Order: sequence, then C-alpha cells, then structure tokens
Amino acid sequence: MEVLNLIQGELVSAKGGEWLDLTDPSKGSIYGRLPRSGAEDVNLAVESADKAFKSWSDTPHNERAACLNRLADLVSKNANLLSAAESTDNGKPISLASSVDIPRAESNLRFYASAIQHFASESHSMEGVAINYTLRKPLGVVACISPWNLPLYLFTWKVAPALAAGNCVVAKPSEITPVTAYLLSTWVKEAGFPDGVFNIIHGLGTEVGDALVRHPKIAAVSFTGGTATGAHIASVTAPRFKKLSLELGGKNAAIIFDDCDFEDALATTLRSSFSNQGQICLCGSRILVEKSLYPKFRDLLVEKAKKMKVGDPQNPATKMGAVVSKDHRDKILSYIELARSEGGKILCGGSSTTPENEPHLSEGYYIQPTIIEGLNFDCRVNQEEIFGPVVTIQPFESDEEAVYFANSTEFGLAATVWTKDLKRAHNMAAALDTGIVWVNCWLLRDLRTPFGGVKNSGVGREGGFEALQFFTEPQNVCIKL
Ligand code: NDP
Repeated sequence: MEVLNLIQGELVSAKGGEWLDLTDPSKGSIYGRLPRSGAEDVNLAVESADKAFKSWSDTPHNERAACLNRLADLVSKNANLLSAAESTDNGKPISLASSVDIPRAESNLRFYASAIQHFASESHSMEGVAINYTLRKPLGVVACISPWNLPLYLFTWKVAPALAAGNCVVAKPSEITPVTAYLLSTWVKEAGFPDGVFNIIHGLGTEVGDALVRHPKIAAVSFTGGTATGAHIASVTAPRFKKLSLELGGKNAAIIFDDCDFEDALATTLRSSFSNQGQICLCGSRILVEKSLYPKFRDLLVEKAKKMKVGDPQNPATKMGAVVSKDHRDKILSYIELARSEGGKILCGGSSTTPENEPHLSEGYYIQPTIIEGLNFDCRVNQEEIFGPVVTIQPFESDEEAVYFANSTEFGLAATVWTKDLKRAHNMAAALDTGIVWVNCWLLRDLRTPFGGVKNSGVGREGGFEALQFFTEPQNVCIKL
C-alpha cells in the first residue's frame, strides 16, 4: 500500500523523497508507506489552493454542493473498500467501520452539500434610515487537521463544510491512519473538484502539520486532536490572528441514577465504555452510579465486559479490535499501572492480550476491556484522558455529589445522564460543564446540532451552521436609504 499526497489535482510523493511506515495494529506489522512531507510540500499545496480560491469561491453553491454529493456517491460505491481499509489502518472492528465510520463520512459530505444551500445571513433594518446586511465570505485557504481514532469520519466532518462554504483546503490526516483519506483523494478529480481546491498532505504532525498551521496564507485552522497539541497550535496561530476551531480531549462522565431504565443503561454504558476500544473522544470513561444501584450495576457491567473478547478486526463478528499503535497501547497500560498504584482495584481486564486461536495476530496491540473501582474522584486516573478500553466506576450519594465529581476534571466535552425523571435530567444537564449532554442515550447524533467542548476540551463548535459560520467571515454592509 502506497499513500500519496494530493496537490494541485496530482497524486505525488513528498518533495524530499522520504517515507514513513504504515502499520497494521492488528498484527503489529508494516504494510505500506506514506510520504513524509515537509514545508516544501505545504508551500506547493497552499499555493495551489490559493490560486484556485477566486474561482471556487465564485462557484455557485449548488455546483459546489454537486461536487460534494458526487464525492459522497464515490464513498458509498466504495464503502466496502473503505471499511476494510479503515479497519486495517486503525485496528477497529470492520463491523464498526462499515456501520459507523464510512456511512458517517458519506453523511458528512451530503449534509454540507445540503446545508450550504440553506445557509443564510442576517439583515438589520434601521427604519427609514439604512439597511444593514451581513455578507458571509469564505476565508481563503484553510487547514483541516484530524486525528486517528475516527479517521475518515472526522476528516470529512471538517473538509465538507470548509469546501461547501467556498474555501480551498489543505487537509492533513493523522500519519497513523492516512489510508482512507488517501483513497478519498483518488476520487477528488472524478467528483469534479477543480485542481487545487482540495489538497491532502501526509506526514508527521510535528513537521508537516506544524508547517501548515504556521503558513502565512492559511487563514484558519480546524483541528481535532489532543489537548496538548491544541494548546501548541493555539500558541502558534494566535499571534498570526488565524481563526481557530479546536476539538480536544475528554474525560466524560456517565451518571447513572437508581430510577434509570436499567437494561438500557447497562447495555449502552458497555458500548460507551468500549466502542472503538474506548478511543472515541465521547466515550464515557468515568462511570458514576447512585449508591443504591451501585453493586448491582457494577457486577453486571463487569460480567458483560468479561464476555467481550478481543478478536481479528477484519472478522465481521469482532466487537473489540486492536488499539491504534504500540505507543498508544503502552500509554494505556501505564495508566492501568498507575491505577494500581493509586489504590484502584481491577475488576476485569487489566493487561494486554491477543485474540485466541489467531497466531498471525500475536504481535498485535490488544488490551482487555478494563474496569477499575476504588479510586478517588481526583486521582490522576480519574482526571487524565486515557483514550483506551479502561473505565473507572464509583458510587455517588446525591445529585450534587454526581455533578461535583463529573465537573472535577479540566475537560468538558460530554456527559451521559440516565434517569426517568426528566426534571432531574434537565437540572443535571444545566449543572454539567460540558458542551454535550446525552439523556438516556449515547452518541445519538443530529448533524445540525452544535458539537464541541468547554474548558480544555476545546474552543468553538462544529456541526450544522456553526461550522459554516466558522469557515466564513461576516462582513456588515450598511446602505443609507
Ligand atoms: P494528536 O493531537 O496527537 O494529533 C491530532 C492531529 O494533529 C494529527 O493529524 C497529528 O498528526 C496532528 N499534529 C500533531 N502535532 C501537530 C503540530 N505540532 N502541528 C499541527 N498538527 C499536529 O491527537 P491524536 O491523533 O492522538 O488523537 C487523539 C486525541 O484526539 C484525543 O485526545 C481525543 O480526545 C481527541 N479527539 C477529540 C475529538 C473531539 O471532537 N473533541 C474527537 C476525536 C478525538 P500526526 O498524527 O500525523 O502526528
């Protein structure tokens, strides 16, 4: 497998001629290479985007939308290829890639193809004196930087609104999972995008990513990834006055009250804990259970988690695949050790493993679903993002205590509340310092809604018209009557 950059409509290697390895985390083996791009490749991509901007921004909405819809058609036509590629590159179960990642990538493209045609701006009348109206102009060349956990899903979530709004894009997927973005790049011309409108460059975040965000012609950066990287990008872009959208880490609480629908809460909490091996920013990693329900909920959750076996990600029956890399596996394992040293009791899991009867996967990066109890709400394991199949569970005694525990971290992305009492649910939602609250559900997404976090989970919102507002600059025009 050889990944190439897309610059000025051409699939090319890095100017420096250097490559990075592509690793299959299910086997721990190298299966291809990607360009190790640098500042020279960034310059070429940004220049080509800059040249294409005038014409693309003048292209009518419906024609830009048609390009996005044709790209969505190609995603749909190649869904099996993309699902298999995402599973190999990331280690996620193919069932998840084919039911969530790839359909959502298609939806992202279609959603913004439609949204741009409904996007309107405001007018303010000064009765009899003047009329103000707001023009929303595309920004120019924008950078879209996405992480490895939901590769094509999050990549398209950024590029679709950027392109729909009339910007030209230089996008950088994670070096760890670049393959589906590369496959997409092979269809960009066929979808009808003029050369230079949509460029994709591959390589290390600290090299090509850094050069991209620093480039003077990059007007805005839309970034999803870790909080430390987000802080670094903010420090680089703020003095250059670039627009910045940051979707960062999370340490989400699942709050379960005694009056919940027990079976639903249990099944969904299992899913919100371990989907994608816990590598979704929205996963609930701190399970807080009302004291009266705690023993029953904990015991049944542990029973169900013990039954979840890791397996070959390419097997359609597998529900738990590999974590994304050796480094990431080691980071997750170090947190399990930390939990032990902080006094935690490992109720299930707690170590690396490999799928049974699959000798060809014996070098892959797998971790057992792990549930830990007995930790204080303010210990490091309960405060820092682990981003793996590791959750903590603890009881709470009152609504106030649940809110206190939930809000105790520096993060504020999402929370889940399980109760049949809607007044309580509403009061909890209002008290939680998070950008998203799910009541009696998890990961139920309406693409029109604002998506993002507060505190160290990010700045700005994606989704719906919020993303189109981010990717445009309002200009007020005042006409005296
Ligand atoms: P990273 O922050 O390591 O990387 C994210 C992206 O940024 C990658 O493409 C990476 O490139 C690139 N990058 C790294 N350093 C720089 C730099 N100096 N300048 C520009 N770009 C850079 O995050 P991960 O990929 O490890 O993703 C996991 C994180 O993402 C978790 O913290 C998770 O919570 C968060 N996340 C947040 C979501 C949200 O919506 N809030 C959704 C999904 C994930 P490369 O990998 O090639 O080095």
